[in-house]
Amino acid sequence: MSEREKIKSVLLIFTGGTISMTQDKDTGALRPADMKQFQEYMPELFHSGIRVDMLPFDPLIDSSDMNPPIWSKLANLIYDNYERYDGFVITHGTDTMAYTASALSFMLENLGKPVILTGSQLPIGVLRSDAKENLLTAIEIAAEQDEEGNAVVPEVCIFFEARLYRGNRCTKKNSEHFAAFKSYNYEPLAIAGVHIHYFPHLVNYPDTKKPLRLRTKIDQNVAILKLFPGISEKTVKAILGIEGLRAVVIETYGAGNAPSDAWLCEALKTAAEKDIIIVNKTQCVSGSVEMGRYETSLNLVEAGVIGGNDITTEALITKMMYLLGENGDDTQTVRRLLQTNLCGEMTVEVS
Ligand code: ASP
Repeated sequence: MSEREKIKSVLLIFTGGTISMTQDKDTGALRPADMKQFQEYMPELFHSGIRVDMLPFDPLIDSSDMNPPIWSKLANLIYDNYERYDGFVITHGTDTMAYTASALSFMLENLGKPVILTGSQLPIGVLRSDAKENLLTAIEIAAEQDEEGNAVVPEVCIFFEARLYRGNRCTKKNSEHFAAFKSYNYEPLAIAGVHIHYFPHLVNYPDTKKPLRLRTKIDQNVAILKLFPGISEKTVKAILGIEGLRAVVIETYGAGNAPSDAWLCEALKTAAEKDIIIVNKTQCVSGSVEMGRYETSLNLVEAGVIGGNDITTEALITKMMYLLGENGDDTQTVRRLLQTNLCGEMTVEVS
């Protein structure tokens, strides 16, 4: 039997979110569906020609309750079942899906199989739900292989409303539209219409000689400091003065600019002297930080702030937690790796 003819298998992990909810007939309120109900709503799951094994969380959770221990649990589930399945699909609430996808992309080093996160804006039990299409296509993509039996997209991805995105490039952009996600700085890896069109030149392929490595140590001593006109010295110092703080995302304007107040530069310098790593991320959803392009970012360079290029906030904060967890007190290495593209999360110009 050729690789193409073999029955493919996918492990479907349910974490919760709107996709796995149903509307109570009496009250109209949304609540988690049980797996039996889910299967009744989606008999197609078992007629796709792909073996789908289901693994539901108990209890199912809203993605607002996602956290690093649960990321680690998901990464471990994939690691432990890695040899048994051709691919993995994780159903997840949309609210924090981009954070989980980013965290998993760092935790599953040298991933060689697809891990596709998906969800929906309307629950599975609602007639117009987007759940079926998102889930069925995600499963098909997770099982897709080339002639040699290699995964077509061996990455952590988000599939939503006909687009397959690199997970660590995504942001939730709309709380209402079916097209809830966007990858502003990187093109989709595939587009699903009548056929699924893959764009292999955009896909990251692992070094097949290296095995999958699980890296789940996390350090949560991080923060996000979002600038706004009128932000006070008190606010900035309160954030930078958090006990045990190790790294901060500073969300700046435009190409990475900040007010030129002397107190801001001083506060950042003092933090940097305490070995706190500060990374500059633009508040714009699209485009990149260019430190030193305007005078208003020179202060930041002087204060020891490093540039985050075109990374998303979701990917940057999870990358910080992961790098600090894995590298302990080795701040030099963390600083260096924050400026390195590890798994497609940022564009780094090669000079
Ligand atoms: N609050 C839900 C969640 O993120 C929203 C959704 O699933 O779309 O779990």
